Amino acid sequence: MHDFNGLGLLSPLSAGLSAAGYTKPTPIQAQALPAALAGRDVLGLAQTGTGKTAAFALPVLQALAKADKRARPHYPRALIMLPTRELALQVGTVFDLLGMQLPFTNAVVHGGVSINPQIKALAAGVDILIATPGRLIDLMDQGKCKLDNVVLFVLDEADRMLDMGFLPAVKKIVAKLPKTGRQTMFFSATMPNDVSGLAGSLLHDHVRVEVTPPATTVERIDQSVIHLDMAQKAPTLVKLLSDPAVETAIIFTRTKHGANKLAAQLAGAGLGADAYHANKSQNARERALDAFRAGKTRALVATDIAARGIDVDLITHVFNYDLPEVADAYVHRIGRTGRAGRAGTAVSLVTPADRPLLKQI
Ligand code: AMP
Repeated sequence: MHDFNGLGLLSPLSAGLSAAGYTKPTPIQAQALPAALAGRDVLGLAQTGTGKTAAFALPVLQALAKADKRARPHYPRALIMLPTRELALQVGTVFDLLGMQLPFTNAVVHGGVSINPQIKALAAGVDILIATPGRLIDLMDQGKCKLDNVVLFVLDEADRMLDMGFLPAVKKIVAKLPKTGRQTMFFSATMPNDVSGLAGSLLHDHVRVEVTPPATTVERIDQSVIHLDMAQKAPTLVKLLSDPAVETAIIFTRTKHGANKLAAQLAGAGLGADAYHANKSQNARERALDAFRAGKTRALVATDIAARGIDVDLITHVFNYDLPEVADAYVHRIGRTGRAGRAGTAVSLVTPADRPLLKQI
């Protein structure tokens, strides 16, 4: 597919595409759009960076435009669920851009901020609600958001959603969606059993589309290993971080305690670093992320699961302070750098005790 013509997109959406500067569909868009625009359910295996947001945003906007209805107060017509505030805000921007020539309102609701403006927005009527699970449940429990009119449902980053422990919340939300007359699009980077189980329970007669991450991702990453003893780890990392080439780094530790300890050591050495893990409050994590994004701290010390919540594209370095316990996690970790076509560097500190693990990797 060479361009977006021939998909039957309404002209306001073609205008939105021009405004966004998209001229040629990405592979996931080329695969998903014909089915999704025809109203089919879609199961998409794709990672961030593939263009999957537009792959669901265009069909959502087109379906709403064709129905030619507007949302009643408290009753959104499309629901897009994301696991993190950062992802939700990004998706909101895409809807703003692609939908700029359409009259629909969207709202992004997530935790960590006041609920009142969100309640107000819903009371005014929101066509497209972009939400993280926790805050959406609060709004539903308070009777401010009702899902009976949702005709388009998108669950994005499903694997991350489950990793973050949102399955019960997702189930509670899904139980309130209309059972029939709804189009569902489900996206996930990976498809472990719990994720495919959830997909199976949500999708009807779906089309499966899949893009493998571009092979260049890992090829662009310069990987190296430093062999050392336990006691040399912290001083070595301090030295590595002193290199000005390290603009933004994620440092992986095996435990939350280890992350705290290391972040304190780095701060003590005058290197801006914050710990980022599940024992920190959402506010503390958001503050750490904001400082990281603003360039006030150069490094986040994170555990594997928490690192999934770090939505920062331009990470120049990944340091494996501790090697991951499973080899798969290594690829996940180093994939945090080398994004968006840029080069990245991954360095692993390996003690003699880590050797068998290194061999597996
Ligand atoms: P996503 O995977 O949806 O987060 O998109 C990754 C990046 O690709 C975003 O910066 C989008 O703005 C961009 N993008 C998405 N679709 C296209 C397209 N068809 N042409 C050019 N850029 C695109």
